[in-house]
Amino acid sequence: MTNGVLAFCQTIHVSIFNESPVKRVVVSALKGNYQVIGDSSFVMDLSANDALYLSMSGQKITLHSSSKPVGMFSNIRFEAADTASVLRINPVSPNLDARQYNDNLIVSVAFKRILLVNEVNIDNYVAGVVESEAGANAEPEFYKAQAVLARTYLFGNTDRHTSEGFQLCDGVHCQAYNGRSARNLSIPTATKATKGMVVAAFDSTFITAVFHANCGGETESASNAWLNGKNYLVPVKDPFCINSPAAHWHKTIPLSQWKTYLKSHGFKLPAGTSPGAFDCSQISRKQFYRIGDDSLPFKQIRTDFQLRSSFFSVIAGTEEVTLKGRGFGHGVGLCQEGAMQMAKIGYKYDEILNYYFKNISIVDVNSAHIKKAPANQPLLSKK
Ligand SMILES: [Zn+2]
Ligand SMILES: [Zn+2]
Repeated sequence: MTNGVLAFCQTIHVSIFNESPVKRVVVSALKGNYQVIGDSSFVMDLSANDALYLSMSGQKITLHSSSKPVGMFSNIRFEAADTASVLRINPVSPNLDARQYNDNLIVSVAFKRILLVNEVNIDNYVAGVVESEAGANAEPEFYKAQAVLARTYLFGNTDRHTSEGFQLCDGVHCQAYNGRSARNLSIPTATKATKGMVVAAFDSTFITAVFHANCGGETESASNAWLNGKNYLVPVKDPFCINSPAAHWHKTIPLSQWKTYLKSHGFKLPAGTSPGAFDCSQISRKQFYRIGDDSLPFKQIRTDFQLRSSFFSVIAGTEEVTLKGRGFGHGVGLCQEGAMQMAKIGYKYDEILNYYFKNISIVDVNSAHIKKAPANQPLLSKK
C-alpha cells in the first residue's frame, strides 16, 4: 500500500460451475496451447482440440487423455500459453452445457466435488459478467455502465469466499459469470474503454453495485427494499424504461383467496367489507398495502405470490382482484432497460450511472483513495 491507495489485483480466482456438484469433467483447448501441471510438476502440453478427462477419486483427481491414463493428482493446473488461449470446460457428471474460459484453470477436490477455479484476468472476468448479466444485444455505452458496476462489485467483494479457497463464485450469489464474452465484441471493447473505473460512494467506499431488469418508472430505495439505507440508492423517476417489454405485468387472483391470504396476515376484514376496500393504487412506490389499520409490506406480497415486482396496484372486482404491476426485479440501483434506452438515445455511461446512483463518483481504482466497506454487511438479495 502506498499513499493510502490500495494495490488492486490484476487476476481473480472465480469458482466456476459453483452451484453444481461436478464429479467428472472434460477439459479441452479450444484455441492456443496449455501446460498441464500436476501437483506442481509439469505433466504434459495440451494443444488445440486435445481433450483431457478428469474424474474425482476420493480426495484426488484422475487424469486421462483420450488414449491412456495420465496420473492421479491433488491439484491440476492448466496454464495458458498466451492471452489468446481458450479452454472449453464441459462437466459430464452432472451433464451440463460446455462453457469457454480465458486464462488459467485450477482443479482440486473440495466439499465432495471437483472444485474448478478460473484464475482470470479481471478485464476478461468483467467482460464475461457483463455478457452474462446484460445479454449480447445492447449499446456500447450501456455495456460500459455495466462493466463499471461489475468491476465495482468485484473489487468490493474479493473476500466473499476466502474460507473456501477462492474469491468469487460464478452464480447470482456474487455475479453471474458464464465464461468468457464471445458473442459481441463491443463488450470487451467497453470493458477496455472503462479500464480500472469503479463507482465510489461519498465516503470513498465501493458502492453496492446493484441493478435490476426494469424499475417500472421509478427506482426503489435501498431502505425500503432491504431496510439498509444508502444515500446513493434513493428513488429516481425513470421515463426511459416505461415502454420496454418488462415495464408492465398483471396477475388475477380470486377475491376469496385474496381475503384468506390477508386474514392469515392478521387483516380483520369484517363481514360486508366491500370490494372497493381492497383497492390500492401505487402511482409512486409505497412500502405498505393498507386496509384500515392493517398493513402488509408490498415486498412480502411479491414474495408470497412470486410476482415480478413489488410495484403494483390492487383493483378489486366482485369475484377477483387484479394486481396491475410495473417493472421486473427489486427496483434498486441501475434499471437495465432504462439504461439501455438512455444509451440508445445518446447518453454516455457516466451520465447513465449518475442518473441511477446519487452522490457517487466514478474513479480509477488504481489512483483514487478507495476503502473497502466494513466487513459483515448484510447480504443483499439480487433479484
Ligand atoms: Zn458467491
Ligand atoms: Zn426503469
